[in-house]
Amino acid sequence: MEREVDGHTVRGVDVDPETRCAHYDTDRDVVALRFACCDAYYPCFRCHEALVDHDPERLSVAESAPAVLCGSCGATLPPREFVDGDHSCPDCGAAFNPGCAAHYDRYFAFEA
Ligand SMILES: [Zn+2]
Ligand SMILES: [Zn+2]
Ligand SMILES: [Zn+2]
Repeated sequence: MEREVDGHTVRGVDVDPETRCAHYDTDRDVVALRFACCDAYYPCFRCHEALVDHDPERLSVAESAPAVLCGSCGATLPPREFVDGDHSCPDCGAAFNPGCAAHYDRYFAFEA
C-alpha cells in the first residue's frame, strides 16, 4: 500500500517501482500525483479513494511546489509544468499517458 519511489513515498494499490497501480498500469502510467490533503503522492485518484475516507483536496495549478512525480526517473514537476507539458517527462523523456489529461480536474484546481 506504500512504496518508496526515488526517495518519495507513494501510496496506492499495487504500486510498482515506477508508480503504476492496480488501476493504471500501461507502460505510460509512470506518474504519481501529490494530494494536498495527505501531502503524499498517489498513482491515481482511485488509489486515494481506496486508501482514505476523505475527499481529495486538489492542488492549485498555480502552486510552485512539486506535485507530480515521474516514476521513471524520480523528477518532480510543479503542476503547471505538467499540465502545459507534452505528456512526457522534461527530465528523462519518459512518455506519460495522454489520457491522464481527461482527469486533470480531479487533481488540480484551475480557478485563478
Ligand atoms: Zn488525502
Ligand atoms: Zn490507482
Ligand atoms: Zn522522468
